[in-house]
Amino acid sequence: MSTLSQELSEEGLLQARQFLRSLQTRVVAEAGASQTAPTTSVLDATLARLKLRGNFEPTDDPTRVLRGGIDFDLMLESERITRAEEIIRRVDPGPCEDPVYLEMLAYQAASIELGLPTDARGQRVNPGWSKFLLGTIHSTELNAFAHRFNSHGYVVVALFSALIEFVYQAAKALVAAQHPVRAADPRFSVSTDSNPEHVAARLYLNQEPIERLYRTLEAYFYRGYPRAYWNESVPAELVLPLTHLIGMAERWIVAHEYGHGFAVGCDWNRGLVKNPKRAEECFADDNATILCAWSAEKLDSLPPYYALIGGTFALACLDVFERGLSIVRHGTEHVGMGDDAHPANKDRALNIFDFYNTTFGVQSYLHPPEVTRPAALAPDDDRIAAEAAIAEGRRLVFEYPNALFKIWVHVRERLLQDFKAKRALHSMWS
Ligand SMILES: [Zn+2]
Repeated sequence: MSTLSQELSEEGLLQARQFLRSLQTRVVAEAGASQTAPTTSVLDATLARLKLRGNFEPTDDPTRVLRGGIDFDLMLESERITRAEEIIRRVDPGPCEDPVYLEMLAYQAASIELGLPTDARGQRVNPGWSKFLLGTIHSTELNAFAHRFNSHGYVVVALFSALIEFVYQAAKALVAAQHPVRAADPRFSVSTDSNPEHVAARLYLNQEPIERLYRTLEAYFYRGYPRAYWNESVPAELVLPLTHLIGMAERWIVAHEYGHGFAVGCDWNRGLVKNPKRAEECFADDNATILCAWSAEKLDSLPPYYALIGGTFALACLDVFERGLSIVRHGTEHVGMGDDAHPANKDRALNIFDFYNTTFGVQSYLHPPEVTRPAALAPDDDRIAAEAAIAEGRRLVFEYPNALFKIWVHVRERLLQDFKAKRALHSMWS
């Protein structure tokens, strides 16, 4: 354990837990929902869900196991589940926490923690993970935040349920539009075609993804919460690609908020930065990208650039939401330029793409990727080959957001009809 974690006090932990619980309770009360005491403790319910991740199927290789069609290193995956349990116990969730959301996010947070390289003594690098408390807020806002306590060093990272819900529904729409099929390559159970033109063509044959994205936005704008579907089961062929996409998007969002936690004490005004308010956002985005890329490759056997897809897809979801809100409010599709602290979503996506290329090098788009050697120590790339690799990387990373926009162009027309019909927005948007 690092010195950082040893400095944390029990009193600080109790304060941070209390802060999170009070906020969760207040939001539930403000929504007018009655808070019924859960029949079982939220901690027990969350841990019971996590335990299911330990239901592995054996493989011919005793060091490898399967779960949900995904192949894992047995030791690393067991360590990830143990780490997620530690995170959940540290939070000690209160009665207004959602066990399903918390378990998912704790698993992603554990992935980030285990992705870091080991130090010279073979110990896992620990930049002070135990100062983070993770939680979800049952809020209608598409948001997440990190609250830092200067007095005792704890950081509460919370994701709002509306954000989790919206990104999940958008991912479901996109994966269905990609039309996954059984893979010819026996190493993969399912193959997807993420090419935006393929997605656009599929939408003429199957309009369910358009319907899903529209219904989700419609529920948000006219009824106040981005959820239109309940108690659904996911078709078998969608499970694997959806697990990867939603997992990496959630991981990237959690890691972004952790970045704000790591930035505590930074005075960006003292740096030679163009826009101090935006500097911390870029830092948090870059933090998310590097942590997720490491963990995707090490724990999930995914190419590290897949972590970038988690980031660019999450940012594309925010962009679609902003475009939709502009249409139902004003009848025109306004593309957001960001705000004081946040660059525009598209600029953020391009920034993390550039940052990733600088950090990991363009070799990471190769199959298999070569990311063991820091780019700075690698010999200079052949410029033409490097440009070709970057172009391939851009295609791989941006085809997911671009495919989502292929669905969006149909949804836009339906929201425009709602605007023209003078449909009354939910009071939260007026
Ligand atoms: Zn942020």
